[in-house]
Amino acid sequence: MTDFNPDDVHLSSGHFIDGQFVSASGQAMGIKRPSDGQHYAEIHEADARTVDDAVTVAEARRISSGWSGCSPRERGAALSRWADLIEKDSEYLAQLEAVGSTRPVTDARNIEVPFTAAALRFYAECADKYSGDVFPTQHSSLGMLVPEPYGVIGAITPWNFPLSMASWKCGPALAAGNAVVLKPSELTPFSTARLAELAVQAGIPSGVLNVIQGSGKVTGNALVTHPLVRKVSFTGSTATGAAIMSQAALHGTKPVTLELGGKSPQLVFDDAGDADEIAERLFLGFTVNAGQACVSGTRLIIQKGIAERVTEKLIARCQKPVPGMTWHASTRYCPLIDARQGEKVATIIAQSVAQGARVLVGGKRYDNTKEGWFWQPTLLENVGPDNVALHEEIFGPVLTIQTFTDEEEALALAQHAVFGLCAGVHTVNMPRAMRLMRALDSGTVWVNRYRRTWDFIIPTGGFQGSGFGKDLGRQAFEACQRYKSVLIDF
Ligand code: ADP
Repeated sequence: MTDFNPDDVHLSSGHFIDGQFVSASGQAMGIKRPSDGQHYAEIHEADARTVDDAVTVAEARRISSGWSGCSPRERGAALSRWADLIEKDSEYLAQLEAVGSTRPVTDARNIEVPFTAAALRFYAECADKYSGDVFPTQHSSLGMLVPEPYGVIGAITPWNFPLSMASWKCGPALAAGNAVVLKPSELTPFSTARLAELAVQAGIPSGVLNVIQGSGKVTGNALVTHPLVRKVSFTGSTATGAAIMSQAALHGTKPVTLELGGKSPQLVFDDAGDADEIAERLFLGFTVNAGQACVSGTRLIIQKGIAERVTEKLIARCQKPVPGMTWHASTRYCPLIDARQGEKVATIIAQSVAQGARVLVGGKRYDNTKEGWFWQPTLLENVGPDNVALHEEIFGPVLTIQTFTDEEEALALAQHAVFGLCAGVHTVNMPRAMRLMRALDSGTVWVNRYRRTWDFIIPTGGFQGSGFGKDLGRQAFEACQRYKSVLIDF
């Protein structure tokens, strides 16, 4: 596969509402490419009126088109056709993803696009597989629990994995018969809009999936507070999730699904295995997407007997990545999303060092990357219990290292005051792995691995300040339905 020229990629303009791109006169927002910091596009943000158009048409079309009322199998078939078209459109979607987000085009071609299609296929299959319930009531009556769609679901996605996040939101919501109005991040608007265009080509009725562009404060807020939006599904930062939750409470007492931030620990025991293999696993765990992943494993908690060997290997591994433009096929190591994110990473590292942390490797931007913010994989040791790098979600390729003597100490270090998204346990002692699996306050525990698979049946979501509700799995599908209790006397 080849490089592509970022200036040649056709970009849609406007919002995708009722099956077509429509322009609106909202505030213009310039968008920059993460790889080189160049301004490459503009969007006009959807104001309250445009959001109202998108939501109103979604509510009308989900009923008039029969989407909410048709046989679930038909919805599943439409989602499958959508997945087929996404695969056919792979090259264009991959370029849209790579030009504007931090995803390198080779990953976009080999992972993001097929992963997105596969997630939608999973929900296509769910559409007619899950039902309600019938209760053991007395002989002359029948009690039932009848699932039905909410209506319009408002979905808000972040900039780190735009395509797959869109599929996680749209797949279950549409399969369950809802309409969706989706707002991607204002930093990465285009690949999501293309997905919606393909949905219509696949036979999902116009207006049932609308994509609106704009900032969180204006467009996102108008979506969350719109009276016809009956449920909100959000992935992003913990602070924004809290703001959305309170707005949803004040404007309609709507349910929310929140997939928020993390500061996930990786517990490595002396018996974990080969040091090279462990170092590689840990490295990928905190550098995928240059650390811009909510599940990033950013706190290494390692037993003293193996700590030095693994740390040496990690240092060597951290020196290997070669940063590159996301439109070069050879690129594996990607930039931070923008200067604001770069400055945040730089500030937290500086504060951490001022509090006594030692930088073992990295700690700065690569020198020759002009306006792109490419951050070197960074290891911090000597981080005391109050060190900022242990507490703040950095969203960059930064790993803190702490050592421990026994399991109890490891568990105490793993606990975080705010977050509980994910944790890794690396040991061949299975009873110990199982004890920790039970004890860790995390929505996901990975044992002897630290990455997602394509097993969409496994849901994902956090505990504590990392949110609640699940994306993926049967659970996400069920969360896109409400359940009506029915009692019939005969
Ligand atoms: P970041 O600041 O790293 O982009 P956010 O959690 O703020 O992370 O953003 C994730 C998504 O939430 C984006 O689509 C953003 O536009 C949206 N967003 C931000 N603030 C709000 C808000 N107050 N209401 C609704 N959506 C918001």
